[in-house]
Amino acid sequence: MERDRVVIVGGGLLGCAVALEIARLQGARGGGAEVVVLERAIVGAEASSAAAGILAPRLEAHGREPLRSIGVESLTLYPAWVASLGADVGYARVGLLKVVRPGDSPASPDVDARWLDAAAARAMEPGLAPDILGAWSLPEEATVDPRKLLPAVHAAAAAAGATFRVGEEVTATDAAGVTLASGERVEGRVVVCAGAWTAKVPGLRALPVRPVRGQLVALSGAPIRHVLCGAGGYLVPRMDGRVIAGATVEDVGFSRGVTAGGVRAVLTTATAMVPGLASASFDGAWSGFRPGTPDELPAIGAVDGVWVASGHYRNGILLAPLTARWLAAAIVDGAALPAVFSPGRFEERGGAASVG
Ligand SMILES: Cc1cc2nc3c(=O)[nH]c(=O)nc-3n(C[C@H](O)[C@H](O)[C@H](O)COP(=O)(O)OP(=O)(O)OC[C@H]3O[C@@H](n4cnc5c(N)ncnc54)[C@H](O)[C@@H]3O)c2cc1C
Repeated sequence: MERDRVVIVGGGLLGCAVALEIARLQGARGGGAEVVVLERAIVGAEASSAAAGILAPRLEAHGREPLRSIGVESLTLYPAWVASLGADVGYARVGLLKVVRPGDSPASPDVDARWLDAAAARAMEPGLAPDILGAWSLPEEATVDPRKLLPAVHAAAAAAGATFRVGEEVTATDAAGVTLASGERVEGRVVVCAGAWTAKVPGLRALPVRPVRGQLVALSGAPIRHVLCGAGGYLVPRMDGRVIAGATVEDVGFSRGVTAGGVRAVLTTATAMVPGLASASFDGAWSGFRPGTPDELPAIGAVDGVWVASGHYRNGILLAPLTARWLAAAIVDGAALPAVFSPGRFEERGGAASVG
């Protein structure tokens, strides 16, 4: 009889993290199913390496549950998770300042936020514009460099025993396996981690996951110390001194690329927050597709016998360790998953018809 197999569709951060966690959990039990990741292009080349790498559940959730609590829980897992990868992935608990400028809402972003007046905020981050009114400080928030994280998670999953097959597009899916563009059938329990393309995976019940394009710009020569968020965007420090400025939020389908208007919008927000960035070097710009859902919550669970980890929208880097831990426990040990993230919830609300 053929050995049991787990077939993961998509080699972004979610696919790699789920593969790693299943392989490790089975390894700890002395063995288990073969874990195979099928990636149609290059591992980690889509949203997961386009991301800014902000790990900020208290800001991103705007106080909304359950996004805030799962984000905080996943952030708590981060230090041990990245340490287990055995590579420098640029993880740093730098803290975040939500900068308030004239005309911005002065409301606190979270119960944990502490108000700093302009002088105190500028003492922490000297490059902030002279006209700021102050900033809300969230010292627990962190960053990671997605372009270092992806290869590290990929390598760790391979070292733990997962197999990666690149250039393999999945063209049909069911509860017993998948079919590849070559016509090959790969049997096993299926986990769809296809990011913004999840609604296009043939055979999977339509989930309302849609692409939301984001454009980012890299600047160098004017380093910052904290993640800085303003009304229209954010700035993220990299350990090499660069600053990543973002991001547009665009409903343009799968239209790839960077636009003059997108870069202008990002740079306008960036230089309004930190005027010194106007003389920074332009190190490039790129875009990616966030996997968005109607309720901005991820889809984690099974639908028609097919497992799904998708729709992580703006927080896929943050939520990867917790999502992977949950799915591995469900697939390997039969643990229950929180119903609030069930991929079936959209159909119950009539949302499946709104796939764009
Ligand atoms: C500009 C931008 C900034 C962001 N900033 C942050 C941030 O600061 N913090 C944060 O937490 N999150 C951030 N995100 C969100 C985060 O990047 C995503 O939520 C996360 O990367 C999604 O990971 P994924 O593995 O689901 O998708 P992806 O990384 O897109 O991977 C999906 C993979 O599936 C493959 N695939 C699709 N269909 C098939 C098929 N049929 N067969 C085989 N393979 C297939 C694709 O080729 C792709 O490699 C940002 C996203 C963007 C675009």
